[in-house]
Amino acid sequence: MFSGNRRRMAARLAGSAMVLFLLWTSFLIPAPVWADGPPIDPTAEVEVTADALNIREAPTTNARIVGVLYRGQRVTVDDLTPSGQTIEGVSTWYHVAGRGWISGAYTRVVRGWPVVEVTADVLNVRSGPGTGYAILGQLRWGERVEVVHLVRGSPYNWYLIVYRGNTAYIAAEYTRPASVWPLPTAYRTITSPWGMRIDPIDGQWKFHDGIDIAAPSGTPVFAFRAGTVTYAGWNGGYGLYVRIDHGDGVTSFYGHLSRVDVQVGQRVSLGQTIGLSGNTGRSTGPHLHFGTWVNGRSVDPLTLVRRP
Ligand SMILES: [Zn+2]
Repeated sequence: MFSGNRRRMAARLAGSAMVLFLLWTSFLIPAPVWADGPPIDPTAEVEVTADALNIREAPTTNARIVGVLYRGQRVTVDDLTPSGQTIEGVSTWYHVAGRGWISGAYTRVVRGWPVVEVTADVLNVRSGPGTGYAILGQLRWGERVEVVHLVRGSPYNWYLIVYRGNTAYIAAEYTRPASVWPLPTAYRTITSPWGMRIDPIDGQWKFHDGIDIAAPSGTPVFAFRAGTVTYAGWNGGYGLYVRIDHGDGVTSFYGHLSRVDVQVGQRVSLGQTIGLSGNTGRSTGPHLHFGTWVNGRSVDPLTLVRRP
């Protein structure tokens, strides 16, 4: 089966990309945040949308049936057929971990693949990773789409996406990782900005490594992008605290929480609730302290997420 080879190739690509990335970031130019695209995790959870869906030994309708899934059942997908392996009009087959293949046309993605948003006015959706391939449709500015794989190319890198139930490609350069405000949009007042300020507790001129957003204790706090939790629990003056690594040099953290709902190592999706806001640690009142880092440096979160 090609899936093992493809995974090894993906690992090799990721390795060389990392070396290039480290070389590049060691020079003077600050890296644009989304230059290398979002992290590509080739697993996702999908939900069956057909009444019954056969699991087959191979990605073709002629292959032996080895099981059945029913409407609403959720399974983890760890591979998919590349576009072009078209079999009887069904372009994409998903490999269900440890079981076999299902037709992707009868499923919807629930969770797991990174989400990007379009930064061009109009972005062509193509049948292959190049401008010579057929245009299947168009995405507009701000539209969001889930990315399954990154295909490196010249002059563009391409994202493999699932578009209207089939695989398709978009130029990665005209997208950026999708982000959400870390609180319900009603809570948009910034009571203290990022940067140097007079500390509200000791009156000293100090660096404030995030933004304070007013919210009553108990307000759900959302992961501003998809990523992996690297800290969850008490962290000194930050009180109850969660940190998320977004995989491309961007890290976010959330302080003064009243409750933490995630664990270290857990993968979180865009907008997933990670805990509740509060007033723990060194805090003068209920609020969320939201901070972001890019390649190890504190940056103003408002450069990475739009305030509602
Ligand atoms: Zn703060």
